[in-house]
Amino acid sequence: MLFSKKIFKIFVIFVVFYHKMVYNDGMEALIDTHTHTIASGHHTEDTVVQMAIRASIIGLKNLCVTEHAPAMTGAASESYFRNLKFADKKKFGVNLFYGAELNVLNVKGQVDLDRDITKDLAFCIASLHKQVFRPRTERENTLALVNAMDNPDVFIIGHPEDPEFPVERTMLVEAAREKGCAIELNSASLSPDGHRTGNFDWIFKTFILCKRKGVYITLGSDSHGRGRIADFDECYKFLDEIDFPDELVLNYYPEKFFQKIAEKKRK
Ligand SMILES: [Zn+2]
Ligand SMILES: [Zn+2]
Repeated sequence: MLFSKKIFKIFVIFVVFYHKMVYNDGMEALIDTHTHTIASGHHTEDTVVQMAIRASIIGLKNLCVTEHAPAMTGAASESYFRNLKFADKKKFGVNLFYGAELNVLNVKGQVDLDRDITKDLAFCIASLHKQVFRPRTERENTLALVNAMDNPDVFIIGHPEDPEFPVERTMLVEAAREKGCAIELNSASLSPDGHRTGNFDWIFKTFILCKRKGVYITLGSDSHGRGRIADFDECYKFLDEIDFPDELVLNYYPEKFFQKIAEKKRK
């Protein structure tokens, strides 16, 4: 009886090992760099605690909470972001990093939280949202994002593929390389049931350009609530299709992700 138990254990170890060898065809994100809780004011009632529990269940060790900044209706207030320095840094074994998804306000690239608040956040995403920024010409939309990159606390350009805001890809990607920013591959824009689909050609050409120019990218689930945390299957498929180099995907290397943020803040 004891012998057969041992054989069974060896068999299970062999099956797991074989499965990993045959089916583990790529890297996996160790951090989700773009999520929202109830504090963002829409699409979810989940709190940080529920998000951390979910991350823990799916085995994600690092979770970034990046609430919408105050210019968006119903979003978190300035005092909310100011107080994040006192929030728990770890829950249920998950490291928590608090940032912000800033709204780019104008073509000058001004954003809706002052540096005296953003300097204490883990990092910031800068995004165009039509509730705050009226879509303009391709050049003006691009300039807004490029100018926002000059803010030392802005590290990620969020969902630049939004079909509402045509963006000039070469100017964006070259500015990201020069200014030390990362371009986001937003899984909500790739998923067939996502809320920002329809710009696949732009995404394809832009990330090919990131690959050619050696520009870092981040995978962001943009999960509002726990449901889609680290739901990157579509991103993995896409990166595989374009043979994107693993070393440029910062979610695979959280230490490198934070090292690049520190470099950007020093610039
Ligand atoms: Zn957004
Ligand atoms: Zn978002």
